Amino acid sequence: MASFPDKVDSSDVYSCLIFDIKRYAINDGPGIRTTVFMKGCPLSCIWCHNPESRSPDVQKMYSTAKCIGCEQCIKICPEHACTLTSDGIITYIDRCIVCGQCAESCPTKATEMSGRPETVQSLMEILEKEVLIFDQSGGGVTFSGGEPLMCSDILIQLLDACGKKGIHRTVDTSGYAETETILNVAKRVDLFLYDLKIMDSIMHKKYTGVDNEIILHNLKALAEVGANITIRIPLIKGINDDPKNIEDSAVFIARLAGDIKGVDLLPHHNIADNKHKKLGQDHTSQTMVAPDQERQEQIIAQFEAYGIQAKIH
Ligand code: SF4
Ligand code: SF4
Repeated sequence: MASFPDKVDSSDVYSCLIFDIKRYAINDGPGIRTTVFMKGCPLSCIWCHNPESRSPDVQKMYSTAKCIGCEQCIKICPEHACTLTSDGIITYIDRCIVCGQCAESCPTKATEMSGRPETVQSLMEILEKEVLIFDQSGGGVTFSGGEPLMCSDILIQLLDACGKKGIHRTVDTSGYAETETILNVAKRVDLFLYDLKIMDSIMHKKYTGVDNEIILHNLKALAEVGANITIRIPLIKGINDDPKNIEDSAVFIARLAGDIKGVDLLPHHNIADNKHKKLGQDHTSQTMVAPDQERQEQIIAQFEAYGIQAKIH
């Protein structure tokens, strides 16, 4: 039985944090989109591209490469939580109250804060400015993360508000949520981008921190209610690209009810290494690569054998 982390309490309109808003996104659903990245995720995939999304709280990020050693951050910090060393600025986490003053004072953005509060109203003001481009391109909004279902109260309000404006709504999810929650969200969603990472639950837990029973259950439940779903599979050599995992994935998808639109395969790339460094996380042991071209083609053929259209995304 899955145990869920506490849902982010969005009864306070400011309690759901956004760590990025990407305009003109072309890989997060159809057309040209605005992708809203929400903070907080119940998974901890070792290949995660957005490590700053995991914590639901504001975090300080620091880049040695951008730091000019001006010490503005040290001077302004009310808690005396920063010091300059030969390795750059060090923050004493036990003293830091994540007030953000250091980031505001930093002239080079070497120090930044990840996570800012937005309301339904403030986000809608941003999205409504894009309606023309959404309409012309067949695009819309994509709520991603992190795991947007962790902020399901505010997510539902946003989906309803977008629906009233005729904005196409996509939710990019790990599927790790209460079934009741995801089915409630599904009533307001035009497209799910649904991650299917590893079919073996023990391996899934090893690499993501959680088992996958509820994820598979929720995918079945969404398919049964006729949700529009594109399944996304990250491809990481030696972790989930083996023939058995691909075969098990294809069998599972082929048996789903409804009309699954297809499978997007996402070969791994190491874009998150710099973000791990900025968060002060040791990620050096995680050397991961995508399967080579030949294996990617074999994987596509494995899905095709089950009548599933798979493409490299
Ligand atoms: S976030 Fe605030 S308390 Fe933390 S290091 Fe920066 S200025 Fe100091
Ligand atoms: S204010 Fe920015 S550039 Fe200056 S020392 Fe601090 S982190 Fe480095």
